[in-house]
Amino acid sequence: MRDIVALKIIHQALSEGRNFLYEYESKELLSLLGMQTMKSLLAKSLEETELAAKNIGFPVVLKIVSPEILHKSDAGGVLIDLKNAQEVKSGYFKIINNVKSKVPQANVMGILVQEMAPPSIEIIAGATRDPQFGPTIMFGIGGILVELIKDVSFGIAPLNKTLAEEMIHKIKSHGILEGTRGLPKADTNEIVNILLKLSEVMTDYPEIDTLDLNPIIVYSKGLKIVDARFILGKGERVESEIQPKALELGALLEPKSVAIIGASKNFDKIGYKILKNIVDAGFNGGIYPINPTAGEILGLKTYASVLDVPEKIDVGVIVVPAQVVPSVIEECVKKEIKGVIIISSGFRDIGQEGAKLEKGILEIAKKGKLRIIGPNCQGVSNPKVGFCATWPLIKKVGNIAVISQSGSIALEIPSFLSKNELGYSKAIALGNKSDVNEAELISFLADDEGTRVITVYSEGIPDGRKLMNAIEKASQKKAVLFLKGGKTEAGKRGVMAHTGSLAGEMKVFEAAIDQSGGICVKNLDELCNAAIAFVTLPVPKGNRLLIITSSGGSGILGSDACEEADLVLSNLSMNTLEKLKKSLPSWCIIRNPVDLTGNVLNNVQLYNDALEIVLDDESVDMVMLIFGDPIPNALETVKHGIDKAFSLGIPVVVNYLGGAEVQIVETEKLQKNGIPVFSTPNQAIIALSYMNKYRENLLKLKNINMN
Ligand code: ADP
Ligand code: MG
Repeated sequence: MRDIVALKIIHQALSEGRNFLYEYESKELLSLLGMQTMKSLLAKSLEETELAAKNIGFPVVLKIVSPEILHKSDAGGVLIDLKNAQEVKSGYFKIINNVKSKVPQANVMGILVQEMAPPSIEIIAGATRDPQFGPTIMFGIGGILVELIKDVSFGIAPLNKTLAEEMIHKIKSHGILEGTRGLPKADTNEIVNILLKLSEVMTDYPEIDTLDLNPIIVYSKGLKIVDARFILGKGERVESEIQPKALELGALLEPKSVAIIGASKNFDKIGYKILKNIVDAGFNGGIYPINPTAGEILGLKTYASVLDVPEKIDVGVIVVPAQVVPSVIEECVKKEIKGVIIISSGFRDIGQEGAKLEKGILEIAKKGKLRIIGPNCQGVSNPKVGFCATWPLIKKVGNIAVISQSGSIALEIPSFLSKNELGYSKAIALGNKSDVNEAELISFLADDEGTRVITVYSEGIPDGRKLMNAIEKASQKKAVLFLKGGKTEAGKRGVMAHTGSLAGEMKVFEAAIDQSGGICVKNLDELCNAAIAFVTLPVPKGNRLLIITSSGGSGILGSDACEEADLVLSNLSMNTLEKLKKSLPSWCIIRNPVDLTGNVLNNVQLYNDALEIVLDDESVDMVMLIFGDPIPNALETVKHGIDKAFSLGIPVVVNYLGGAEVQIVETEKLQKNGIPVFSTPNQAIIALSYMNKYRENLLKLKNINMN
């Protein structure tokens, strides 16, 4: 019954050629959907307006109803707090005159007479449909000022109680709801209920494209939805495949044999470089260069086609020109190769013609159960088995995996890690992502034993739901660090509704990753530094940081960086402070940061003394050691303390600066021993803050799953 009446309202509007509902229709719909609205009556004349006001009871509000006017107050179409019949009468003429002068072409359908809600905190709740993630709910503060303040949060439907509460906590001015400066403590339970309702409505009614409840006036008990706006759309139901299928990727990323299709003798050609890198990386499976004329390359016999190779082939790396790729793919299918990595460009990357070609090869591959990475990609590298089908060759094996749409970034991360004495488990450049994409790889790497941290760079994803699912599963086991490139403008819905205009792709994306337990970082530096922290350190048990420094200034910069990063400085107990006083010389400054001052150069052992004492303090969840001078033997000095910290599950980061030549030597030693060293306090704090975020995410995932 509810659905029939609700759909009737929606279809009535659509049949009149309107893609929006009038306020009174919106309100009728809201109450059908179980959201309490305010008393209001539609009046078509002065007499009806006067009568309606009397029936509702003073004070009242008058609002214009016109298909040409969506933002009523901009047109002078809202008058509030009319206290008696006289004010209603003059208000009636005033509102009509306002509208006539501001929007002369407006057809006035009537006046909505509404009960007056007492003033209180104004919030907005809304919903829109994101092209990648589907129904998305928004919450914000500020009522009509929301676009100026832009303090909003997003949640991807379906929401549950935990997620809705998170959305409320996430906004910056969240404190306004806590009851400060004469404002009441807002009834957040009721706000949660509204957000949950919106989530339900967006799932149940695909015809609703975007909706704003703006403002909702919130009291200490209850709330009032003062204005509602529904924008209608085509109503297509988009069903997406929820479970990413991580099939057959093992063979693609860890093959036992490989054919390089388009291998070359020419040193300058990619077809040579890839073959050489696979050989140099020590790949010990079968390597088959495919080239009709060469005879032999790098001492390996060549074949004219994969079909001529007598042995089984797991993977083909394709470097031939785009036009030849379809026939090569057919041969690969015939040879029962499991997957191909298409390096060649000239597909979707060059426009429509190329896109057609890409679609064609995908069809052949799908039929033949052949998986594709690329085309237009920089290949795959798995240094552990020497399968380095990419360039440049980076050999250092470690536990960080890289998935990147961009080839340079796919290889830059391993190269940065190498410089920091760390390695990678797999680097996968995705290029056009015609088949294998981020979601599937994240699912695969979640179960990959060699991978402890997953880093992703992506410019856009085809199916947001699938990605969320993959991240949620993986995050329970290991951190997924996500860098999204390519900011785009807010949706085209901008003009019609606040929620649409505020739902920029980036904000919704970040909300979606966060909701799934992933970590969104802001730039490549953060991605690299966070990866280093995650792979070397235990996850902290809280957000309280202790700093031990020789440099007062760096200690201050570190402390300053904490606030922005949601970390706080540990409050050491009296007992710990006493112990520090007893064991450190009088020139040390005993507080947090513990400042050993430059004098520590005379006795570097003090670093370890201080560290071991603070580790016993209950308030210390993580430690930053700042070597702010040319401190010699840094590693040897603090090794014992750091081992103790790690065994207690307390992460310790080192920040080495101001140490010139000594710094270079000591940094390398520390890093070689698995201790992360950052060159500025800020970098170290940001890396720690992401670890803290991951801790929170794990708790959140637990709550969501229990909810
Ligand atoms: P629009 O968003 O189309 O300009 P609204 O209906 O939201 O129009 O009204 C504009 C502002 O007037 C609201 O943000 C709110 O501050 C105030 N207002 C509107 N209706 C009421 C009401 N019934 N009670 C109290 N204040 C109201
Ligand atoms: Mg409004």
